[in-house]
This record gives sequence, structure tokens and C-alpha cells, in this order.
Amino acid sequence: QKPIHVIGGGLAGSEAAWQAAQAGAPVILHEMRPIRGTDAHQTDGLAEMVCSNSFRSDDWEHNAVGLLHAEMRRLDSVIMAAADLSQVPAGGALAVDRDGFSAEVTRRIEAHPLITIAREEIAGLPPADWDSVIVATGPLTSPALAQAILDLTGEGQLAFFDAIAPIIHLDSIDMSVAWRQSRYDKEGPGGDAAAYINCPMDKAQYEAFIDALMAGPKSEFKEWENVPYFDGCLPIEVMAERGRETLRHGPMKPVGLTNAHNPTEKAYAIVQLRQDNALGTLWNMVGFQTKLKHGAQTEVFRTIPGLQDAQFARLGGLHRNTFLNSPRLLDRQLRLKVQPRLRFAGQVTGVEGYVESAGIGLLAGRLAAAERLGQALEAPPATTALGALVNHITGGHLEGQPASFQPMNINYGLLPPIEDATPKKADDGRRLKPAERGRARKRLASLRALDDLDAWRG
Ligand code: FAD
Repeated sequence: QKPIHVIGGGLAGSEAAWQAAQAGAPVILHEMRPIRGTDAHQTDGLAEMVCSNSFRSDDWEHNAVGLLHAEMRRLDSVIMAAADLSQVPAGGALAVDRDGFSAEVTRRIEAHPLITIAREEIAGLPPADWDSVIVATGPLTSPALAQAILDLTGEGQLAFFDAIAPIIHLDSIDMSVAWRQSRYDKEGPGGDAAAYINCPMDKAQYEAFIDALMAGPKSEFKEWENVPYFDGCLPIEVMAERGRETLRHGPMKPVGLTNAHNPTEKAYAIVQLRQDNALGTLWNMVGFQTKLKHGAQTEVFRTIPGLQDAQFARLGGLHRNTFLNSPRLLDRQLRLKVQPRLRFAGQVTGVEGYVESAGIGLLAGRLAAAERLGQALEAPPATTALGALVNHITGGHLEGQPASFQPMNINYGLLPPIEDATPKKADDGRRLKPAERGRARKRLASLRALDDLDAWRG
């Protein structure tokens, strides 16, 4: 039997190879590391997590990514099995020892009798006699392959800049200046109306901050000069260049917040920080993605009142995010319409995140194996988290074609609503509050998803 070729041994490619092999199809997994590296990977292990060590919430009843975990566990996911084995304490989140996790995935893939690993870069379109290929080369797809795909699809752009914001240690924030409050005291998940840390600025401080931001040295990305930014993810200095007041009307807007230390004085601008880890020890600067050089970041951000002694757990930065205009280019089998021997999986399809990438890898592996073995298989229904992701990337949820396609994490908004069935009263007859109804709705959507997944699996 001819093998299925999987290109890229990341989160998605490892899962795709595992699923196809478990279904009985031989697989060759082509991974370019360590022959050729990327800007983010540090090791030659399969399924390396390049940044955080978290697969996010594991609450399948009330959290969409937790539901995705549950679905993948039911489908014999190698990523979930390795994650469960290498778990570290993280509250309700599933966080792992990243080296142990990668080693476990590598061990299982290497030991699989139907999988061969080839350490090589596929630096262009795969050879014509590879009749079943899964491209899972991720946000940092090597330039030669990215260019070949671009030529084949005729799209104007394949890569975008993605920016990350700095993260600060809680115990270095001066809480005699900063205070905790959500905008308009709005309750967040878990009913927390004080979910953010706020740092106030007066007019002079704001003006000085804008000057420092504009003057600070920036990292240059010459080879990426014409690459656009994601709409919702502009670096702050790019926003500031659009007008001195832009930030005050954007991420630094001072509305809906009252300075707990000085309630009568109205701040001119406010910087917000959001909790970044389950322990609550790390906080990220909301909307502060930046390409300021690292030294300049510490200098400029320490001029923010309350952050004068800030210790940074991570500084901001930019990275490339390569992804297809999938709604236009892929069919529901995740195949490229113009060349159906090529299937795509992972972040390159326009999902966002480790779990989502692995989830699409799982489906691509199963779909490719079914095709190879002459079995009929369709993607799961859109009521499941996996099916909802397929819908998002293949445009099944939209009439016609979306104007602009943006990568997305799994969320309940991608699943069909379940409004009618939502209970209005608790078991004791008490009327449910809106937040409680929201939780009940999520739970019902999760139960429906797992039922529908089981039916699909059967
Ligand atoms: P990857 O895991 O990157 O795997 C792709 C693999 O393909 C790599 O091993 C690469 O070496 C290989 N490859 C590339 N080109 C070729 C080629 N031509 N031939 C052979 N092999 C090739 N998501 C989160 O959930 N949490 C985070 O904290 C997070 N941080 C991120 C930080 C950065 C800097 C980046 C770039 C992304 C981050 N993401 C994060 C997004 C995303 O979840 C990860 O990138 C995830 O690893 C994507 O999985 P993947 O399998 O699609 O790609």
C-alpha cells in the first residue's frame, strides 16, 4: 500500500500521522528539524510547544477548549494521551511539562510499526507521485514550501504578522498605585467583577509615554516589509503612529473604571492587565503587543504608574503566522480544491492554538486514511467542537465567501446555538441569573457535542 505523506511533525502533523497509522494506513512523517530550524522551535522533538506550556481549560462542561480535549480523548488522540501523562498542576487548566510531553509523543510515533520518520525539509510542492499528502507545517512553514503553495493557490498573501504582548509578575506590580476592577464592574467568567489590574495615567504621563513609544527602537523585519498585520492585533506603536489619541480611545481608554486609591480624580488613560496563568502570578498587558526592542520595552513600560518596578516574565514580540485562505481554498475533506491530493492540517488552515491545531490534525489523519482505505468518511457535525472548527475554516457556516478570514480559537460561538433548551429555573425553582444560564447553555452544548461525536464515531 502506498504511504500517506505527512509534512511537519508539530502538534498537528504528529496527531495526523498517529491517526492515519492507527486506522491502518502506512505513513511517512517528514520533519525538517534538526536539519533546518524555525524562528521559534528550540529542539528536534516532535510536537514541540513553542511558547506557553498550557492546553488551556480542561473543563469540558463549560469551556469550548475543554470540550475539544474531551472529544479528542474519545478519538484516541496521541497529543491528549501524552498531555495527560505529562501534566503539571495548573488549576482547571491542562498544563504539561513540555519536554516530557514532546518526548512521549516522539516515543509513541517512533514506536508505531506503520510510521516512518524522515528528517528532511520538503522545500517545494511534494513529488507528483505522492498521491496523498497532509501539509501540517504550521505558522512558521519554511519559506520554500510557503512560496510553492502561494504559487499553486494564486493567493496574494499567505503570511501575516502576529504579535504578542508582554507578561508581568504580579508581585512586581505596585498595588498602592494600581487597583483591581473590570470595566463597568462587569462580571467575567466565574463571576469576577475585579478581573483586571488597572494602572492610571494623567495627561503629562500619557504624552510622555506616547513620545517614548514612538521614539523607541523597533525590531526590523525587512524581508516581511509588505506583510500585513492581523486587524485585531496591531502593535501599540503602530496604533500610536496613527494619531496621539488612538491608544486613549483603544486599549488605554479610561472609561468604566474608578481609581480605588483616588476615586475623585479621573485618569486620562488606563493600562489594563489580564491574568495570564491559572495561579494568578502572571499578568499580561492587554492590547500591548509590540515590536519595540526588548531593552526599550522594559524602559518604556516601567514609566507606567504602578509598573515602575515591573519584572517581565516575557517581553512582547512579533512572529510570522502563515495560513491559507481556507474558506476559499479547502473542501470539507480539508483537501486543496485545485489539487485534492494535498490535504492541510493545523495552524496553517486558520485555526489558532495547540489544541485546535492538533484537533484538525486528528481529522486530517482520519480523513486521509479513510480515503486511502476506500472508506466513506465525512467530518463530524458542526454541533461538535471538531466539526465547528472544520466549519470555521472551510466556510461552511457562511453563505458565499467571507470577506476576510481570520484564525480563531475554538469557542461556543462556533457551535449552533442551543437557546431553546436552556433552563430558566434552577432545580429549587429559583430563577437563574444570566451568568448561570450561560453556564447551563454551555453544558447543554457540550453534552450535545459528545452525543453527536459518539454517533459520528459509531
Ligand atoms: P507546528 O507545531 O509549528 O509544527 C509544524 C512543523 O512543521 C514544525 O515541526 C516545523 O519544523 C515543520 N516544518 C515546517 N516547514 C517544513 C517543511 N517545509 N518540511 C518539513 N517540515 C517542516 N498556541 C498556543 O496554543 N499557545 C501558545 O502559547 C502559542 N504560542 C505561539 C508562539 C509562537 C511564536 C508561534 C509561532 C505560535 C504560537 N502558538 C501558540 C500557535 C500554535 O498553536 C502553535 O504554533 C502550534 O504549534 C501549531 O501547531 P502546528 O502543528 O500547526 O505547527
